Amino acid sequence: MGQVVSERPIGGNGSGPGMNGHGGAAIRSYAPATGELLGEAPNTSAEEVRAAVARARRAQEAWGALPVEERCQRVLRFRDAIVDRTDEIVDLLSRECGKPRHEALLHEVLVAADMATYFAQIAPKALEPHEIKLHLFKHRRSWVHYVPRGVVGVISPWNFPFQLALRDVLAAIVAGNAAVLKPSEVTPLIALKQKEIWDGAGMPEDLFQVVTGYGPTGAALIDSGIQMLLFTGSVGTGRKVAAACGERLIPCVMELGGKAPLIACADADIERTAQAIVFGGFANAGQVCVAVERVYAHREIHDRLLERTVEITKGLNQGDPGKEFVDVGAIIFPPQIDVAERHIKDAVDKGATVKAGGKRAPGQGQFFEPTIIAGCDHAMTVMTEEIFGPVVPFMQVATEEEAIRLANESHLGLNAYVFSEDTDHARRLAERLQAGSVLVNDVLMNGALPDAPFGGVKQSGFGRVMGEDGLRQMCDVKHINADRIALGSKDPTWFPYT
Ligand code: NAD
Repeated sequence: MGQVVSERPIGGNGSGPGMNGHGGAAIRSYAPATGELLGEAPNTSAEEVRAAVARARRAQEAWGALPVEERCQRVLRFRDAIVDRTDEIVDLLSRECGKPRHEALLHEVLVAADMATYFAQIAPKALEPHEIKLHLFKHRRSWVHYVPRGVVGVISPWNFPFQLALRDVLAAIVAGNAAVLKPSEVTPLIALKQKEIWDGAGMPEDLFQVVTGYGPTGAALIDSGIQMLLFTGSVGTGRKVAAACGERLIPCVMELGGKAPLIACADADIERTAQAIVFGGFANAGQVCVAVERVYAHREIHDRLLERTVEITKGLNQGDPGKEFVDVGAIIFPPQIDVAERHIKDAVDKGATVKAGGKRAPGQGQFFEPTIIAGCDHAMTVMTEEIFGPVVPFMQVATEEEAIRLANESHLGLNAYVFSEDTDHARRLAERLQAGSVLVNDVLMNGALPDAPFGGVKQSGFGRVMGEDGLRQMCDVKHINADRIALGSKDPTWFPYT
């Protein structure tokens, strides 16, 4: 591993010194809330990545041969080790990501533990070979088997570094694979902690590997002989990653960006909707792929909804995420502050009004005030491009038809929300929205529901994680077919033709 001289990349993803080559200067991780240097992580070279994948492959041979029930029992031991060390993980998450401690606990540690429980519970049944009936060749017997693919690569982002990485790693491992994780260079220490807990729990050491580094380390992982890749990150990087997988014919799942619309119907409950917008827009300081990124409010309730949303927003506590009762933490990755400022300036230049927040918060650390902007439309980038920060734009609509049309007028389609007192009506609207998931009268929950398939449409990606299908896709599907015709006989369709 190289000598430590580099800093966290400033000025945009992919601009760090390590981006120019494999290996070399290590990564320094700083606390976004205080600027404190928290630690260092290796900038793993391509050779080291290849060696890690080779070790993982050897470990997978024994692991994949274990009965699925035993694999599940051992994964539950890893889950228990996570739960035992909850305080320590929450502390590190809060410091490395600048997120409030209760968000680190609820949205990261408990969600990850729940995913481990879920996969371990469903795997024996979901991965069991099952017999299928052939409609024409009734004399034959056919079975479908789920065979581990081998080594699964996982490339993950910085916004939920604990649960998003484990979501994919756990599914891969329960299904009998090895997993090699390339975490975001912005939050490498969390991943190293996961590996430390894994080893400490007596899990097969080489079965789960962490290769910290910048983009080239991720590119090296794709090029190291893995059998599948799960990528979570931005659309721009996803495009390159999918192309690299295509070149090598590696199956991949792309979990990319979002621009979730929230449609507030004329009969929406104002209090519930306003609370949901504030939580959905500002939890994790808005750095959530399913965050509420644009509100289409029916003109009958627009003004009251806006007023109440602004009121709640102004009452939020922002600050040191280590303190009690902090609602909104820090911006994890500094360039996101520039992105928020750029969108707000563009909206204001085109006639929108900032109703709350609107600027970098004073003092040390990377904070941006929770921001509500009114009078927005689709000529403004704030309504059309991903913000990934604590900024929620409002647009007034005359009809639900207009809201649906505008909501679907996007290159992204990860998530959407509908608020209406009439749940059946809301569900019918939900069916017309172009999104991988739609929540009715609720926000943010779906990424944390391991039983439900999760993923996007359009440029938000392809493939689904979680649920039974998410687990099964970690396997190659093998068909075994046996003919029951007596041995010694000839099939009438073979040579010679008669
Ligand atoms: P990013 O695309 O910048 O980076 C994601 C990962 O890709 C990092 O680990 C990075 O080092 C790696 N990478 C960069 N270049 C690479 C290359 N050429 N080859 C291989 N790997 C490479 O994304 P980010 O800024 O870390 O995360 C924010 C984005 O992630 C947002 O767009 C957000 O919407 C999205 N996201 C999506 C989901 C989802 O489930 N759909 C969840 C969380 C975040």
